[in-house]
Amino acid sequence: MRAILGGTFDPIHLGHLHAAQRAQAALGIAKVMLLLAARPGHRTEPLAGIHDRWRMLCLATRETADLLASDLEILRSGPSYTVDSLRELRGADPLVWLIGRDALADVPTWHRAGELASLCHFVVLDRPGREPSEPFCPRGFEVVEAASDLEERPSGALYCLPNAMLDVSASQVRRVVAEGGDASALLPSDVWTYICRQGLYRSCEVERA
Ligand code: ATP
Repeated sequence: MRAILGGTFDPIHLGHLHAAQRAQAALGIAKVMLLLAARPGHRTEPLAGIHDRWRMLCLATRETADLLASDLEILRSGPSYTVDSLRELRGADPLVWLIGRDALADVPTWHRAGELASLCHFVVLDRPGREPSEPFCPRGFEVVEAASDLEERPSGALYCLPNAMLDVSASQVRRVVAEGGDASALLPSDVWTYICRQGLYRSCEVERA
């Protein structure tokens, strides 16, 4: 199996790294790909540009052998649609798309969402302490009870991974920085240094409101 955590990473934070490493251990795989959604088609424009978000992703992963930064969606022109990346990445091994529980509800709005079940499994990243519950399940997917069940089919399974989220979000980081605060506890240290040096996120007026 190959697992992918896609995101705008505006910026990448400790929650993303924790989730990727938790998934890597739970799935028993060597690496998780962190795929930068360079030009997200389904949400508002990221505040940091592609170059800065890519630099931060590289800084966050450069000392972690189990995380691999991917520029696939930077190199592909046009909007960064997950379905196109899955089509490019697919091969003999099943693909696993890691996704936060909160983001799962948006899946039906994704470009060509109906094709996803034939391309990947979903592993839903759950918050610590959350009671296991029946998750929202996008069309074509079927909930499975164990990570090992993912191996048994090529795609279309959905598994909920407990304790995979930290209470951190990129919008929280941007808000703290815009207010002149210290976000270092939420970020890999090289990413915090980069944000300070480049002066990123200092004027996020919309998000402060
Ligand atoms: P924003 O606050 O701007 O919405 P974000 O923190 O959710 O950003 P994204 O780059 O949009 O970051 O997220 C990429 C993926 O990581 C999504 O599937 C998202 O659900 C997941 N994710 C986000 N925050 C966490 C977290 N704290 N723990 C685990 N997964 C997370």
